[in-house]
Amino acid sequence: MNEINIAPLSEWGLKPDRPLLISGPCSAETEEQVMETARQLKGTPTQIFRAGVWKPRTRPNTFEGIGVEALKWLRRVKEETGFLTTTEVANAQHTYEALKYGVDILWIGARTTVNPFTVQEIANALEGVDIPVMVKNPINPDVELWCGAFERLSKVGISRLAAIHRGFSSYGETRYRNAPNWQLAIELKRRQPNLPMFCDPSHIAGRADLLQEISQKAMDLNFEGLMIESHINPKEAWSDAKQQITPKEVEALVRNLTLRRMDPGNNGFLNQLEDLRLEIDRLDDELMNILDSRMKVVEKIGMCKKENNVTILQSGRWDKVLAQSTAAAKAKGLSEEFTMKVFSAIHQESINKQTKIMNE
Ligand code: PEP
Ligand code: MN
Repeated sequence: MNEINIAPLSEWGLKPDRPLLISGPCSAETEEQVMETARQLKGTPTQIFRAGVWKPRTRPNTFEGIGVEALKWLRRVKEETGFLTTTEVANAQHTYEALKYGVDILWIGARTTVNPFTVQEIANALEGVDIPVMVKNPINPDVELWCGAFERLSKVGISRLAAIHRGFSSYGETRYRNAPNWQLAIELKRRQPNLPMFCDPSHIAGRADLLQEISQKAMDLNFEGLMIESHINPKEAWSDAKQQITPKEVEALVRNLTLRRMDPGNNGFLNQLEDLRLEIDRLDDELMNILDSRMKVVEKIGMCKKENNVTILQSGRWDKVLAQSTAAAKAKGLSEEFTMKVFSAIHQESINKQTKIMNE
């Protein structure tokens, strides 16, 4: 990812809490619902009040948000509670309206991050405006698109940036509404270590009972903050009813988090950790040597097949390798899913090597 200038969260006008909490309803429904949710959230560590005003809905004929009228309610929330406010903008028009009504922080939703045209349109609308912008991950697990959105915003001069990890769409039934694929958020942070990271457990989970566990995981992975959807009467919510919780439940969730230190400040522990990491480095080295030796044998087999004019893929052989390795892995307590993934990757690389030899 190209070098981008990222301002620290301390420049957002927030108290340095951990986790930094964003909460509020999925959608602004009525003035009463918005105001009452905000009042009840005053008793929680929330610092930023969220509410969707324009809602990207999967199917038409569902509630698509109140629109501009609800921006006035957000302004009232700010006046009466002192919360900073945030809403999703999905095109230039939304952006102009949100700026006009004094929304403090904008966020770009998952369905927008996938579309470079729209991200660019929003970035252009923000040229010369100094406002924090949070970017949710794209719905597909593509870290490049996520990076691209930050680069587009950075190019127009936005430096108060943050990422929101809200999980990724996957086909078929899974435990989550959106698979967390934590490694993508970790990869983004690796590329941009200064980028503040929020986790949105509500859209990952899709259901209230998983929020605690996902929030804990985010804290253990050193995320700076959480965005949690809350509603005064979740069951009656006009969108995302299953995943919203009451302000009281938000408070309990945050109270129940275990915050582990990034810097353990204890020498005995640090030494032990250092030893274990050295051991891991040594094993990784060994693993690499073994893979290298394996590939050299694969190349010899490739030469052999070429000389004898036989096909690369001998599927009976691959079935046997897979059966042997999953059995061996099982005996060691390694999951079948993991073994399949590792061996499929090794097999693919072996085929690539042999194809190269065949074509030489
Ligand atoms: C939301 O936050 O209500 C929302 C629509 O989020 P996402 O873009 O993550 O689906
Ligand atoms: Mn929602």
